[in-house]
Amino acid sequence: MLRKFVSFILLLCILLSFVIPAYAAPNESIITPNTIVANRRDSTVYINNQRFNFHTFDINGQNHMRIRDLAFMLNRTGVQFGVSWNSERRAIQLTTGTPYTPVGSELRPKSTTGKTGIFSEARVCIDGTISIFNTLSIDGETYFRLRDISTALGFSITWSASDSRIIIDAGSRTVEVSVSTSTGPGAHRRIIDTSRPVIALTFDDGPGLHTTEVLDILSAHGTPATFFVLGRLAERNPATITRMYNFGHEIANHSWSHALLTRENNARITKEIVNTNMVIESITGRAPVLFRAPYGAVNSRVEQVLRDLDFPIINWSLDSRDWENRNANAIYNATMRDVRDRDILLYHDIHITTAHALRRIIPSLIAQGFQLVTVSELMCFSGISLQAGQEYRHGR
Ligand code: ZN
Repeated sequence: MLRKFVSFILLLCILLSFVIPAYAAPNESIITPNTIVANRRDSTVYINNQRFNFHTFDINGQNHMRIRDLAFMLNRTGVQFGVSWNSERRAIQLTTGTPYTPVGSELRPKSTTGKTGIFSEARVCIDGTISIFNTLSIDGETYFRLRDISTALGFSITWSASDSRIIIDAGSRTVEVSVSTSTGPGAHRRIIDTSRPVIALTFDDGPGLHTTEVLDILSAHGTPATFFVLGRLAERNPATITRMYNFGHEIANHSWSHALLTRENNARITKEIVNTNMVIESITGRAPVLFRAPYGAVNSRVEQVLRDLDFPIINWSLDSRDWENRNANAIYNATMRDVRDRDILLYHDIHITTAHALRRIIPSLIAQGFQLVTVSELMCFSGISLQAGQEYRHGR
């Protein structure tokens, strides 16, 4: 009886050993080769002043890139790893703490888009341990999910979609890398190199007679600015507001009629601000989030209204005095003499002399290594979270 029972158990075990893999099989279907159309995304990264062009494939919001491109770029940071082929273990070998030796074709994007990608697997050997990664195979190249590699190597990569930044945290130090992409929402190129100074140009009191000229100069250099516009002028010049918005300039609120708000009652202050936001939102679909008071004049009452309406107050750290000196050289000199990292610069797009000065100012600033961004970008980049009713003059 006992022998019969043992035989029965043995038979059951043998049967189960066939049955269990059969049941396990459906789980493996997720790694069965499967195809997808992958769209290429060209990106530019600056690391320590060095520019890299590379390409990724975005699948379901996940960035896939070649592991040697990543290693090549990270050579300049505290995160280093070598990439080689371990034939004995039939795995891609990642050697941590070793600088990567380029083998030629790194970071050279192929010219085609809309490739067929095949979901596949790759064996990766890190510190003697084999890990299996789900990868994407395109044109015989293996693309890894950035997140998988960072997890395996013990550093974190975060992607901040709002300001297009890849943040690589190498433990002891944080390396921030800014990326601009040629596709995606807005497609506004914004490359911020953490090792170089960043400033924000602001233009008040428009849109006016010379705004178009200012926009032409900014476009020619591909640089964004922030326009503190008046509601009543925005209403009359919707095409100019649309042009600003489409280029990626920031449109901010400078009241409806340029009233000295400290002399107005709360209801009137509110109306000046709310109506301006409404007209801009009706043109661009997006309501401004920054406010600058006419004449920079605020008191505790104006501040309270701005707190209630949820607006920070943006002033400036460098006044070009273009409203006073209607002379392009004077405006140029005032800018170039005092400009510092994280400054907010004040101009007015209603004077022709300002437009003339800008023709020299912008290339000079760029030549000196300054990166021009919007006020919101400057604050975000500087790690400043804006509080309603508070005044800000710079990103320092
Ligand atoms: Zn003004």
